[in-house]
Amino acid sequence: MTMPVQTEAPYQAPTLLVVDDRQENLVAMEALLENSAWQVRSAASGEAALRCLLENEVELVLLDVQMPEMDGFEVARLMRGTPRTRFTPIIFVSAIAQTQDAVLKGYASGAVDFILKPFDPQVLRHKIRALLVHEQSRRELQQLTLQLERAQAFNASVLANAAEGILVVDEQGCIQFANPAVAQMLQGGAADLEGTALMSYLQQPGLPVRWQDSEFYRYWQRGETRRVHDINLHTFTGELLPVALSFSPLTGLQRSMVVIVLDMSIERALHAQLASQAITDPLTGLLNRRGFNQALESLLARVVRSGKRIAVLYLDLDGFKRINDSLGHAAGDQVLQYVAEQLRVCLRPYDILARVGGDEFTILLDSLVHPEYAAKIAEKLIQMISVRHRVDGVEVTLGASVGIASFPECGQDLEGLLRAADMAMYEAKRAGRQQYRFFSPEMNGRARSRLMLEESLRTAIEQHDFQLVYQPQIHLQTGRLRGFEALLRWQRAGVGTVSPGLFIPLLEETRLINQVGDWVFHTGVSQFLTLPPAFREQQILSLNVSPVQFSMPSLLEDLRRVLDLHQLAPAQLELEVTESALMHNLENTREQLQQLRRLGVRVAIDDFGTGYSSLAYLRHFELDTLKIDRLFIANMLESERDAAIVSSIIELGRNLGLEVIAEGVETLAQRNWLVSHNCAVMQGFLVAPGLPLAQAQNFPLTLDWQRLPYKPTP
Ligand code: C2E
Ligand code: CA
Ligand code: CA
Repeated sequence: MTMPVQTEAPYQAPTLLVVDDRQENLVAMEALLENSAWQVRSAASGEAALRCLLENEVELVLLDVQMPEMDGFEVARLMRGTPRTRFTPIIFVSAIAQTQDAVLKGYASGAVDFILKPFDPQVLRHKIRALLVHEQSRRELQQLTLQLERAQAFNASVLANAAEGILVVDEQGCIQFANPAVAQMLQGGAADLEGTALMSYLQQPGLPVRWQDSEFYRYWQRGETRRVHDINLHTFTGELLPVALSFSPLTGLQRSMVVIVLDMSIERALHAQLASQAITDPLTGLLNRRGFNQALESLLARVVRSGKRIAVLYLDLDGFKRINDSLGHAAGDQVLQYVAEQLRVCLRPYDILARVGGDEFTILLDSLVHPEYAAKIAEKLIQMISVRHRVDGVEVTLGASVGIASFPECGQDLEGLLRAADMAMYEAKRAGRQQYRFFSPEMNGRARSRLMLEESLRTAIEQHDFQLVYQPQIHLQTGRLRGFEALLRWQRAGVGTVSPGLFIPLLEETRLINQVGDWVFHTGVSQFLTLPPAFREQQILSLNVSPVQFSMPSLLEDLRRVLDLHQLAPAQLELEVTESALMHNLENTREQLQQLRRLGVRVAIDDFGTGYSSLAYLRHFELDTLKIDRLFIANMLESERDAAIVSSIIELGRNLGLEVIAEGVETLAQRNWLVSHNCAVMQGFLVAPGLPLAQAQNFPLTLDWQRLPYKPTP
């Protein structure tokens, strides 16, 4: 930082002003003082002298005492009254011998010296020289003082106007200076702060009492700057102000430091807000999963030492999805808020309650005396929730299933306890809902094997142990190949092929399905394009899409990328989606289907007939294909009901303009029945199971029904 500096004027010889009412005296004086070291000006009266002094820089005045009108004393008095000439040296020149009184009067009116006529010119010149040197020093001093004052004013204005608080603290930790900003932050005056101990304002956990024990002092001793961001100041009004501080040693002799204070209240408030948003569920105001985990973690840390018991309850609503789907999201939200309120009033104020998923709640019971108490609570919760109530004018019945895991029996850490409670909850659901279950060791065994399976799935993904096989789909009338459905296989070392029915649900739960699904898209499409041109150009490739994958907003982008990359016509790609995936979120489904339609890919409903089979959605959704579930095909020749269902589905498909595929056709009798009922396409072991790529590449374009099942040419 630099301060503006006055530039120095070029050197000029000093000016003497000779004042005398007599012309001859003036001339004589001028002649006498003729000298290159100074310039001489003259004035013939007191008035002329004052005018000259106003208009010119004059370093010394030789003043005649006796003059008409305004005498020398008067001139001197007036000069001393004007700032410009207050200090200008005056030598009185007098012809007559002065009395002691007159000399004193002269000094009193501002004379610096007297010289009496007749005088020795040498002496006068010495006097003048000495006075000029003196005057020169005085002026320099005045100039310096002026500069110093300006610098001080500049610094003071910087300190006064800085938005940051600035303190100067001495070696003893005592505040020497406080600027207005810091005084304002602390809601006091700078004078209140000055002379007090800085430590008395600081608040931070672990801060020592004595200044000399503080790290700020140690840093200062080493000559280093210390910055702290998480400290508070006590204000004069008794509040705590969050601030950031920097302590920098002042150089030189001052043995003190400058402390810059930044008001952090806005930032901290923002942080606190973000932190609370991160752990609370906006819909119910309860904790969210993260908040619950934090609470459980910290409780566990305390409980481990105290030897207390605690319990974790996992509560899942029964029938919530139905309400959400039939009454809409707003009603669903209302139900969740209602349930949250019911749970809250059931629990003690210090029990911890959270919503950790759509309709999943967790409860942490602190200091549990008996495990039975947890069961009592669970029972009460189920009762509270399982009453009829009205939502949007509609009567709805809810239910809840609860799993209980106690510490330390069922799990020693956060993950263990949550998993145990979750398992127990599934067990309660399996046992018929509206129940609670304690976690048991058998569940643990199942959990362990699941965990191992999950682990090996992760490895399988890394090591590319997956493979696709292709099951042909045949036009029933002509025997022409429609295309292939790609089916996923997991080649597990030492175990053999694992059925997707076993591992797909696990992939879904662990969200690993997206990685595998992506692999299926890429591999399926690129392998399909290795088929002979006659296939490649017209046939359809069907890919299975899991519910999780289907609900992903990124599905469309992923597909578009795959199609672009491999240059496959969208109309040759069919996605198979199960009914339950479509029913999960109706709004989202409609949107997703429209987008897929726009992209140009086909959509089939898989396993049709096993789920809701609602006619309403068939009407609303944009679909291409219905795949009749193989259970109906397996039973249709024996069961009239199943036959009726199959023929109705075929009829329905025709009326809605959808292609119908019969799955799991194993016998010629089934195939003939389907032909006579005008089913369009079949798929099943009668023709072939899923074939490795090499066999699919050699599959005939048109099938010979006489030579079934299809045997690949060796
Ligand atoms: P899905 O989509 O209904 O697939 C048809 C299943 O029926 C396949 O079992 C197939 O091998 C079997 N199948 C075909 N013809 C017959 C038959 O004549 N008789 C009998 N009994 N079964 C037959 P797979 O390959 O074990 O697949 C099981 C399920 O796994 C599939 O059911 C599908 O939902 C899922 N899946 C398979 N591959 C994938 C995939 O790549 N991604 C996703 N998300 N799911 C897949
Ligand atoms: Ca399928
Ligand atoms: Ca199916």
